[in-house]
Amino acid sequence: EEIAHILAAGEVVERPASCVKEVIENSIDAGASFIDIKLEKGGIKKIEVYDNGKGIHPEDIKYVFERHTTSKIKTVDDIFKIKTMGFRGEALCAISSVSKVTLISRHYQQDQGYMVKVEGGKVNSKTVYPFEKGTKIIIEDLFFNTPARLKFLKSPSVEQKYCAEVAEKIAICYPEISFRMQVDNKRQLFTPGDGKVESAVASVFGTDILKSLIDFHQEEPGLKVWGYFANPVLSKSTRSGYYFYVNRRFIRSKLLSSCIDEVFKNSILTGRFPIIFLFIEIDPSDIDVNVHPTKLEIKFKDERFVYNTVYKAISKVLQSEKI
Ligand code: ADP
Ligand code: MG
Repeated sequence: EEIAHILAAGEVVERPASCVKEVIENSIDAGASFIDIKLEKGGIKKIEVYDNGKGIHPEDIKYVFERHTTSKIKTVDDIFKIKTMGFRGEALCAISSVSKVTLISRHYQQDQGYMVKVEGGKVNSKTVYPFEKGTKIIIEDLFFNTPARLKFLKSPSVEQKYCAEVAEKIAICYPEISFRMQVDNKRQLFTPGDGKVESAVASVFGTDILKSLIDFHQEEPGLKVWGYFANPVLSKSTRSGYYFYVNRRFIRSKLLSSCIDEVFKNSILTGRFPIIFLFIEIDPSDIDVNVHPTKLEIKFKDERFVYNTVYKAISKVLQSEKI
């Protein structure tokens, strides 16, 4: 049973960044307006995430670590239909089987907080713990019981970069939430939570980018495309500045990458790629989620329609701005 857990954990928990992603998504699902992330040693030693969301009921707090405990939904296909980020009830189970977890939470209808600790998948008893509001999860010594996997991790500074990327990507599409990230006690990210994508982008890239953001927008039946790109578009030597979101999830997409390449082909000829934030809102029945849910590649049922709409949205602006 325990080995099965550890094996299953590998699917969800590849590295500290995967923990950060899962835990942040839980905080979003809990309705948080503030999420505070602290890392030590790239998250390998410690990941601590606090949120001011609705908290976990004391009757549930021990059970959130069990497999398929989800207060959310049922099937993987529903992933883009549902309103919550989590859906399989696997994350906390997987994380807690390969680390030492402390969970502190106060449910919004309770007058006190509780704490539970889990080590190598074993949950100890819950104790009363003074806590103002929300939930704090502390994940320590990731892969302490799976040395082979620990060895597979990169250096703390690289793992830290992966963690930061996860937080930044999510922060950009949840601008109504204030995100703070501290690494070894130094502030790494702070978004104001004012609801503006530009503000979150400025927090990640520096306020200078605000001078160069150009917005685009295109709406078709069942499809809405909007976003920003930075002009001058000659920004990065790789496609790492391509931020694609479908129904508020960060995704990778060859189709969208090639569309952006095509729209900006004249600038890309010089070997530089744009920084672009592309948001797609589409009817969930018009996409297939046919790959590993944590990797988030998706297939649009009508690829040409999506490609053309994105192309139109951006090229329209490029022409009118004479860029
Ligand atoms: P999932 O998110 O797929 O439901 P998880 O293993 O990530 O599964 O979480 C299990 C359950 O624990 C969630 O369904 C939720 O009820 C509860 N939970 C986890 N984190 C939080 C949080 N930060 N605030 C409130 N509830 C939480
Ligand atoms: Mg979850």
